[in-house]
Order: sequence, then C-alpha cells, then structure tokens
Amino acid sequence: MFTARQRVLVIEDNPVNLELVTAILEDEDTEILSAETAPAGIALAVREQPQLILMDVQLPGMSGYDAARALKADARTARIPIIALTAHAMRGEAERAQAAGCDAYLAKPLDPAVLRHALSGHLQCAVSGRDR
Ligand code: MN
Repeated sequence: MFTARQRVLVIEDNPVNLELVTAILEDEDTEILSAETAPAGIALAVREQPQLILMDVQLPGMSGYDAARALKADARTARIPIIALTAHAMRGEAERAQAAGCDAYLAKPLDPAVLRHALSGHLQCAVSGRDR
C-alpha cells in the first residue's frame, strides 16, 4: 500500500493509543517516530521531516492544535500533512481541526481501516509531491 520507508511522526501522550497506531503502521513499511509532548514533536518534525504527522489533540501543556498551528506557521514543516486525533468527537471538532491547520481529523477510538485509509491517501499526496 505504501512505498518503502516512509516516515510518520506520531505525537501522542497515551501509550495505549501510541501502541495501537504503531501496530497498524507496522503492517506497512513505515518508520514510526514518536513524541509524547507538543514541543518534542515539533522538534522531531523539524529535524526528521516526516511525510505525515498524527497529532493527538489532548496533550499535556501545549495542545495538539497549538502544535499544528506552530508547525503550519513554520516554513520548515508547513507542507507536512497533519491528521488530528481526538477523543472529543464533538460538534464543530472538524472545523476546529481545520482552523488549526490540520489536513484531516479522526475521532478515537481509532478504527484501523479508517486510519489506514487516511494514511494511505495523505502519504500518497505527500510522496507524489516530492522529488525522490
Ligand atoms: Mn492525549
């Protein structure tokens, strides 16, 4: 489904959710980078230039949406697609995710098939837009 050695950054403070995402991605030939806080995730994104970021919205301290805004405001990371992950499947959540600069939004609990589909679409876009 994915081309070789794509890198996905997962910014998630909940180890159970991180494990779930990792398990889904391990079926694909995808390198997973992870961070438990927004500042650590932003630093990794700048340094490692992943093809895609999965961003938990509820992070301790700096929120996932604040992190998304910071990433989209930085020329070094602005083009990296961000998929927001939130437990709050509330009315208006999709709009809030979009307003923060996220490219897509998925509600927890994550459905592996839905996550795979979202990853596949965004990774294909990210890779086809690059000279590699
Ligand atoms: Mn969280």
